[in-house]
Amino acid sequence: DAEVALVGRSNVGKSTLMREITGHTFDTGQRPGVTREPNHYDWASEDFVITDLPGFGFMKGVPEDVREQIKTDVVRYVEDNAEKILAGVLVVDGKSVIDIIDRHSGEDEVPHDVEMFHFLRDVGVPPVVAVNKMDKVEDRDQRLNDLCDRLGLYPPWKQWQDTIAPISAKRGNIEPLNEAVRSHLHEAERDDL
Ligand code: GDP
Repeated sequence: DAEVALVGRSNVGKSTLMREITGHTFDTGQRPGVTREPNHYDWASEDFVITDLPGFGFMKGVPEDVREQIKTDVVRYVEDNAEKILAGVLVVDGKSVIDIIDRHSGEDEVPHDVEMFHFLRDVGVPPVVAVNKMDKVEDRDQRLNDLCDRLGLYPPWKQWQDTIAPISAKRGNIEPLNEAVRSHLHEAERDDL
């Protein structure tokens, strides 16, 4: 089966999304910083295997070196498996992602999410940004256009529906993500012809 990798900072709603995708329960707010192995699950509604990778970025009570190690492990897994990974789902929190990106953009700083997005592209894994918690976002189109801008995608976001998928995992509204991932599956099948 085609593999889809799931990455994201902690607290963006990855566990909630995994529950929605697989039908299994996952501990939300699982002890952060405990390095976990990549875990593979079936994507219930689709013909994919989804690989849950550890959360990265700031985690309360987790030392810097441990955080760095987690990120290194995530990057290595994706690099080593890039050929068989059909898409890399980068989960972000729609409510806070722009503020976080802007706060961490500077001379010699690239925000984690932006870095991960470009990394996926660089290793040939099509990125799909699952913009979660959209139920808390009021200026939806503006927010999604801003995100495109920060990622170097020319707005409007509606041109990028294979890359930008606004969802609410908590409300079970993840169809835009299913569709985006499906579009990459079809792309991969065409490439195989
Ligand atoms: P993780 O650390 O990335 O695994 O994040 P969790 O799945 O544990 O979610 C972190 C918090 O965000 C929890 O309080 C969730 O209930 C909440 N959350 C997750 N998805 C959504 C969503 O779509 N909308 C809203 N409003 N909250 C969400």
